[in-house]
Amino acid sequence: MNHDVIVLGAGLAGLACARDLVAGGADVLVLEARDRVGGRVEQTELPDGRLVQLGGEVVGLAHTAYIALTVELGLTLIPSYVAEPGTIARATPEGVSAGDPPHWFGLHDDACHQRVTTAFTALARTVDPDDPWCHPDAAALDRLSVGAWLRAEHATPAVVRLWEIGQ
Ligand SMILES: Cc1cc2nc3c(=O)[nH]c(=O)nc-3n(C[C@H](O)[C@H](O)[C@H](O)COP(=O)(O)OP(=O)(O)OC[C@H]3O[C@@H](n4cnc5c(N)ncnc54)[C@H](O)[C@@H]3O)c2cc1C
Repeated sequence: MNHDVIVLGAGLAGLACARDLVAGGADVLVLEARDRVGGRVEQTELPDGRLVQLGGEVVGLAHTAYIALTVELGLTLIPSYVAEPGTIARATPEGVSAGDPPHWFGLHDDACHQRVTTAFTALARTVDPDDPWCHPDAAALDRLSVGAWLRAEHATPAVVRLWEIGQ
């Protein structure tokens, strides 16, 4: 075997790396330990034909590289479950909890949840996804956990619980 580059692993990183190297003129060999490519991106089909993702599945607006790749490869993105009718269901120690507000919310928790969500959205809007480290508070924000931020915002324990499940 004589190649310019050997890439170990045919997950998205290895495949993307190999693709760029080939585009640059390199002779590349990709070695994969499993009997399929994709790594932690894997899809399976249920007996009734529905497709289920076993790993990475969500492509958000900030995933500009993924989106460009789907265009390049002629792939189609499909709306995620949040676009489907129905209610969000959460698995909790008390059992499955469906709908909003969650069953553990008390009188003032929903208002608190709305308040911290608005504050978090405003904070997120100050960060440029293409250049997050140019943010004047980048180092401090990077050290801050979501839990610490919620406590600084005086989020109630019920709200912190909801955000923990979300995270
Ligand atoms: C349940 C789940 C949900 C996720 N949801 C999302 C999501 O919604 N959106 C999102 O963007 N990301 C999501 N992710 C993360 C995303 O799937 C991964 O970040 C991404 O697939 C990792 O790609 P990778 O190429 O770095 O690694 P991997 O996909 O792990 O690929 C590594 C490959 O290398 C192979 N390998 C390892 N060692 C060797 C060796 N010595 N020789 C040969 N081959 C080797 C492995 O078999 C594997 O195929 C999710 C992950 C999981 C598990």
